[in-house]
Amino acid sequence: MSGHVDVLAMAREQLSVAANYLELDSGLHQVLSRPMRQLIVNFPVVLDNGEVMVFEGYRVQHNSSRGPTKGGIRYHQDVDVNETTALAMWMTWKCAVANIPFGGAKGSVKVDTKQFSRREIEKLTRRYVTEINIILGERSDIPAPDIGTNAQVMAWIMDTFSMQKGYTVPGVVTGKPVDLGGSLGRVEATGRGVIVAAEEACKTIGLNFNGARVVVQGFGNVGSVAASIAAQHGAIVVGISDAVGGIYNPKGLPVDELVHRYSGREGGIREYKDAQPVSNSELLELDCDILIPAAIAAQITGDNADKIKAKLIVEGANGPSTPDADKILHDKGILVVPDILANAGGVIVSYFEWVQDLQNFFWEEDAVNERLTKIMRHSFAQVHEAMMIHKTDMRTAALIIGVKRVADATIRRGIFP
Ligand code: GLU
Repeated sequence: MSGHVDVLAMAREQLSVAANYLELDSGLHQVLSRPMRQLIVNFPVVLDNGEVMVFEGYRVQHNSSRGPTKGGIRYHQDVDVNETTALAMWMTWKCAVANIPFGGAKGSVKVDTKQFSRREIEKLTRRYVTEINIILGERSDIPAPDIGTNAQVMAWIMDTFSMQKGYTVPGVVTGKPVDLGGSLGRVEATGRGVIVAAEEACKTIGLNFNGARVVVQGFGNVGSVAASIAAQHGAIVVGISDAVGGIYNPKGLPVDELVHRYSGREGGIREYKDAQPVSNSELLELDCDILIPAAIAAQITGDNADKIKAKLIVEGANGPSTPDADKILHDKGILVVPDILANAGGVIVSYFEWVQDLQNFFWEEDAVNERLTKIMRHSFAQVHEAMMIHKTDMRTAALIIGVKRVADATIRRGIFP
């Protein structure tokens, strides 16, 4: 899904940089560079017209030394096992940077959801979960939403797993509807966390968030919430794009109107006319203060990094910048708040949801948001401090913290048997 870029090679290159800083033993480095488990499934679904179609899906668990594995399920036509593995590895570091007791996992099904009915997606979900349920469990591996999936899909996952157990197991998946054991604040959590990270980053570079010009690539769950909260907090959202394309207005865009009236339309937010149309790649190069890539991987590369004008990049997506881009952005003095820190809000509130499900005791939304903000600020401060100490970029600093926590847990537990 990231064109020609090998995202697993990218994730491994990032790990190697951190491993060098940490002088990680080569055996341990090998352990961390590979996933502990990869399950590939091919399964049939009877379509509405009676035809049978076979789909390919994956569930990859990268590392469980700090707790059960955790990570979303992606439905997209371009997924493959290597990309899913890279995403699982990033989940491991993300949970460790936020210091929540999970390892990393990711799942995916190769499917273009737009081509199928709701009933077909339900059947696909139920069959996929049945194929992978041998490695799922509230104490072992807990999925969540990602690109192409939502709370309804999580409800089907919970129901399918529970039907096979014979009793309801809400803690086996997070991002569920609130009335089925979901958490208040989970839908907004990733975008909310992105803005907490952006505001903290602004303080460190002396930029006023209030009045800052923001560009958001992607208008899914992460991008749309990040754009709305940015506007609520006084920033001027000048550019936004969705899968169809982008729009730009230096005076600012009406984010809430775009969310409520234009997203989900066939022509996307481009149907809003009081703005200049731009392509997804032109959008990244717009004149702005803060750029939030919140779409897919490998958008900022060696080819366009030099043309980026933002002072600050806050990664809402997983893996939006390649290692080549990182070097160029660092040399240009652009601060990049990396994905494994910036978009951790989703999995942090997933952790809260899981805790609430295990205890059958549910929190008020303010408590969720306050605790989320506290963890985001604390993680940001730790990563920023590591960046100063090691005189490096923020991604490397976050990896140093995340990889070290996972390595320490592995060493303390020891290698079985
Ligand atoms: N898919 C999200 C991510 O990439 C959320 C994962 C979760 O909540 O487990 O972080």
